[in-house]
Amino acid sequence: MKRIDVKITFNCNNLCDFCAQGSKRSKIKMKDFSEIEKILRDASKKKVEGVVFTGGEPTLHPKIIEIVAAAKKMGFSRIQLQTNGRSFAYYEFCRKLKEAGANEMGPSLHGSSPEIHEKLTKAPGSFSQTVKGILNCKKLGMYVLTNSVITSVNYKDLPALAKLLTHLKVDQYQFAFVHIIGTAWENKQWIVPKKKDIMPYVKKGLDIGIKKGIPCFTEAIPYCLMKGYEQCVAEAIIPEGPVADADVYVDNYADYRRNEGKAKGKQCVKCKYFKVCEGPWREYPDLYGWSEFKPVKK
Ligand code: SF4
Repeated sequence: MKRIDVKITFNCNNLCDFCAQGSKRSKIKMKDFSEIEKILRDASKKKVEGVVFTGGEPTLHPKIIEIVAAAKKMGFSRIQLQTNGRSFAYYEFCRKLKEAGANEMGPSLHGSSPEIHEKLTKAPGSFSQTVKGILNCKKLGMYVLTNSVITSVNYKDLPALAKLLTHLKVDQYQFAFVHIIGTAWENKQWIVPKKKDIMPYVKKGLDIGIKKGIPCFTEAIPYCLMKGYEQCVAEAIIPEGPVADADVYVDNYADYRRNEGKAKGKQCVKCKYFKVCEGPWREYPDLYGWSEFKPVKK
């Protein structure tokens, strides 16, 4: 299924240390309703069936309910909000979004406690609001798929976070390695862990979901580091499709990711996964080199 990602506003009420959007929040205007409607209409003509509203924080767009309703009217079958989850703490708001047609909630939770989550979001109270938001969405029967960004602050907490997520009965969870752009680039001296150091914790975090039969994934961690967990590599299942970003429209983000965003090293040609692997985001080997990525024997 093809899915379009529409970045409707770059405003946000969190101030995450790893934010890939960086200073866009103060520089880029939110898209107005008619612009979003046109993007959706054009996509629906190209057989795109799913939409994910992102940003920034999409629930801060003043017309978010109308935007979701327009997507439903145009026939999009999967309508997701990729969100910091805080607005979902308000049950009535959640109910209205669901009624308008939103059927998937993609919240970000970056720690199993307020201390860890809010150390990264820089937003007091954000942990309890996001957790409450997840519970509200589950109560309303929405499909909840969480994302947690792996950083030097939270990687040891991933098993505890996985326990919390399974306790909250999320439908799916993902650990995504920090993409070193935007604010993360500014913080690159301290926010980026070495991949070899995080893997024991990532794997323990995945074990918890696997044991309970909950789909769980990692993003931007190549196969050579995922021995025994190859089925959890998210790049194999991320829907393809366009992205309507701040001022650019990318026809297929997956192609962009493979050809420009991510990179493979010289040694990768010898690897069993060369054709299917996307490699790490290219900024990672710029920072730490290629020594952690060892070709898997064919
Ligand atoms: S192709 Fe390179 S980055 Fe990908 S799994 Fe193989 S060695 Fe690792």
